[in-house]
Order: sequence, then structure tokens, then C-alpha cells
Amino acid sequence: MGENNYKAFWDEALRQIESEYTAKGEGTNFKIWFNMEYVEDTFDQITVSVPSEFMWMQIVQRGYKSAVESKIQEITGQNISLTYTVKPSSSVLSSTFSEDGHEEKKSPQPQTYSQSYSNAQTVDTSTQTEEKESFPPHPLLNQKFTFTNFVSGENNFAYNVCLAAAKNPGKAYNPILIYGGVGLGKTHLMQSIGNYIYNEKGPSTKICYIQVENFTNEFTASIRNKTVEKFQQKYRNLDVLLLDDIQFLLDKPSVQEQLFYTFENLSMKSAQMVFTCDRPISELKGIEDRLKTRFSSGISTDLSLPNYETRYAILQSKLEQQGKSIDLDVISYIAQNVQTNIRDLEACLKKMLAWVDITGQNLSVKIVQEQLRDMFYSPSGGTITIDTIQKVVADHYNITVQDLKSKKRDKKYANPRHIAIYIAREMTENSFPDLGNDFGGRDHTTAMHSYEKVEDMLKTDSSLDTTIQMLIREIKDYKKQ
Ligand code: ADP
Ligand code: MG
Repeated sequence: MGENNYKAFWDEALRQIESEYTAKGEGTNFKIWFNMEYVEDTFDQITVSVPSEFMWMQIVQRGYKSAVESKIQEITGQNISLTYTVKPSSSVLSSTFSEDGHEEKKSPQPQTYSQSYSNAQTVDTSTQTEEKESFPPHPLLNQKFTFTNFVSGENNFAYNVCLAAAKNPGKAYNPILIYGGVGLGKTHLMQSIGNYIYNEKGPSTKICYIQVENFTNEFTASIRNKTVEKFQQKYRNLDVLLLDDIQFLLDKPSVQEQLFYTFENLSMKSAQMVFTCDRPISELKGIEDRLKTRFSSGISTDLSLPNYETRYAILQSKLEQQGKSIDLDVISYIAQNVQTNIRDLEACLKKMLAWVDITGQNLSVKIVQEQLRDMFYSPSGGTITIDTIQKVVADHYNITVQDLKSKKRDKKYANPRHIAIYIAREMTENSFPDLGNDFGGRDHTTAMHSYEKVEDMLKTDSSLDTTIQMLIREIKDYKKQ
């Protein structure tokens, strides 16, 4: 059979998959994971081009390759397999899928690879500086935080944006705002940009990573020491400013003013700026509007909790970095059960490796279960009460707990009520009838409806996910206060 026999079937298969994804509200996932172009076919194989080998490995490992194969089989009744070639990179974003921070090497003829990759963690750990002069570590950056060490998974938009900016500081995306809950990799990605630029350009490039709290302390000290001008010069002369956790600018007008002028100066000279925040800008309180507008004047990208496969890949990658290994079912157990954030995932792994060191025994799922019971189950730990949830959610939305429990139906009250019920269902053992009672003596179907409504909204609104994660964190912290 000649070429192009299957082209029409390919188009139809992708069209159908796209409409299935769009109907589920997952149009973005479709764009990311089915980014394959038809190249040619033989009688039992279709060759597609993808942005990079790494991308192909992800497509295979996550089951998207077999999803397309099944769809084609459904349409043609034939068993046709997919193979791939890497297309020469054409745009900044499509060239960024190489996870080691290198530009993809353009091959004159696209190469065809037919081996299947079952293990997505065959990470190429070659570093950026191989053929370059290597510089002493940057004093403000943690060398661990590199693009190579970041497993992007479904956070690959944030990853790609940051990598593109690192390759083209001040030009590709500026400023970048990364937001999302605690422990999800904001600082890691932000510092990866710094490390990448530093390794490329060396110490003559003025890169500053600073947390807002330290920026504030430095400014206050400069007032005390009458060195404000020096402080201003230092920040206004930077090539790269990485300012972490801007939510702590809250109610600090004079620091905000300094930052505003720093921003204007850096913006004029196209210095790269990156900010992180634990919530979407629209939810920042106590920060001047002109500054909020500046933060979000470039590109904003959020980080969310990666899914099971990515959590599994992250654990494998951390083990590889340390030259350690544990049973796959143990890795799988941890990946499945730690669903808070990556910092907790790392902490679990650390605790288990320490256990192995101390006892000299092998880990089993049963042991992990026992050892990690606290970490897995105590975030809510049974001590989270409905009162706390109602109080935190009501405060966040500037309404009262009475409003939350009332029969008022305007959006202003109904939305927070839906969210509070959703969180309560997630964090407590309460059933829907219990929740109906807790929220002003409602029927259990009303509570269930609220829960489902939020579930639906979460499918399309990633900032809602960030807000809910943040509220959950606040609820957990509440009892410590
Ligand atoms: P945040 O600033 O969002 O609170 P961090 O950047 O400090 O989170 O990340 C917490 C820890 O989790 C760090 O040790 C970081 O290296 C690790 N981490 C987070 N996301 C990833 C990821 N996708 N791949 C590998 N490590 C990650
Ligand atoms: Mg951080």
C-alpha cells in the first residue's frame, strides 16, 4: 500500500478525540498531548512528528499513543501502530520540551525512532555547561533547582514558559508570574531560570533571587542606615530579578512603592522579572492596584498538584538523583497516597530512606503504610471541624458564617457556600446529610449539588483549584494558631 492511505483516517481520529476532550472541558490537554502531525504511513504504521523525543516518551507513557491507536482501529477496523520522528524545532515554545534545558539539536533529516519508551524517567542529566566555562555557584541560588531536576508533567506550560524566558531573558516572556499553592515548585522553577541564565552568561549578569520578606528587611535597614539610594541602585541595575512570594507585600505601602519604581526601571531596560505568589493576583489583598497590574502585565501561569503518573515520575527522579532505589510498588503507594504537594512527597521519601538507613531492612508497602500513617492521614487528621472550614471560607470571601449558612441565594453567598461544602466533604468524614445539617439545615441533595457544582467548575477553572488548595492550607494551619 502506498503512502497517505490513512491520512484521512488520521484526521478523523484526531478530530473525534479533540471533540471528546473539548466536551470534557480538557481542550488544553488535547493541545498538549496530541501535538502530533501526520507524516507518512505504510500498511500497518503511521509516522507522526512530535516536538521532541521527551514529548514522545510522555505521550507513550501516559497512554495517549495507545488512545490514538485505538481510535484509528475503531475507525478503520485495522491494527495500525504509531511511530514518530522529531520535527525540527520551529518556535520558542515547541523547542522547549527538551527537559535538560538544551535547545533540541536540529537534525537535517528528521530521525525516526521506533523503540518504545516505557520508562519516562530516562532523564538526560547532561548539564548546560558541558562545553562552557563553569562558574562558581551563584551565592543566591540553590544549584539543585534546575530545569533538569524539574519533572514537568501537566505543569509543562509553566515549565515551558520559564525555560523559554531563561533562553531569551527579558524578551520571550516578561514579567512572568507563577502562582499556586505551597510546595508545588514555584521557587524551584523561578530559581531554574536564574541558574540557567547564570550558567549561560556568568557572574557579569546581575541576577538577584530574593524573598519578599528579605527585600522588606533590606529596605527597612537601608532607611535605618540612610542608604536608601544604594538599595535603590542595587535593585534598579539588575538584569534579572526573581522576587519570591509577593503575597507578603500585603499592607506594606512603602515597600510596595519601592518595588513599583524598581519595576518601572527594570521594565525600561528589559530586565527579566519573575514573581511568585501563593494565589491568583485577583485574590491578592492589601496590594496597590498599580503594582498588581504590573505583576500580571506579562504572562501568568499556575502550578497545580501533578497527577499520579507525574508524582510517580518525580519520586523516581529524586531516587535517581540520590543513586537510590526502592520497590516500584512502594513508589507507587507513596505517589498514590501523598496528594498534598511535592514538598510532602519529598518529605515522605526522605523519611522512608532514613528508615532504610536506620533499620537496614527493605521497605514494603505495609511498612510504608505504618510509617507514613501520620503524613497520609493527619493533614485533616480528624481534627478539622466544620466550624473552622466555615470560618476560613467566610473570611476569605468577606462574608459572615451566618451568611454562609443562610438561605441567601445571590452569587456572593452561594459560591462560597458551594466551595465550603466541597472542602468540608473533602476534608471531613461528614456525609451529605450531615453537611446539609451543618450548612443551615439543608436537604442532603442540596449539599450534593453544591459538591458536584464545584467539581464541574474545577474542570475548567484552574484558578479555582488554586484558591481551594490555598483555603485547605489555611484551614489546616488554622488549628495551629
Ligand atoms: P513552592 O515554592 O511552590 O512552595 P518549591 O519550589 O519550594 O515549592 O518546591 C518544594 C519542593 O518540591 C522542592 O524541593 C522542589 O525541588 C520539589 N518539586 C516541586 N515540584 C517539582 C517537580 N515538578 N519536579 C521535581 N521536584 C519538584
Ligand atoms: Mg517557594
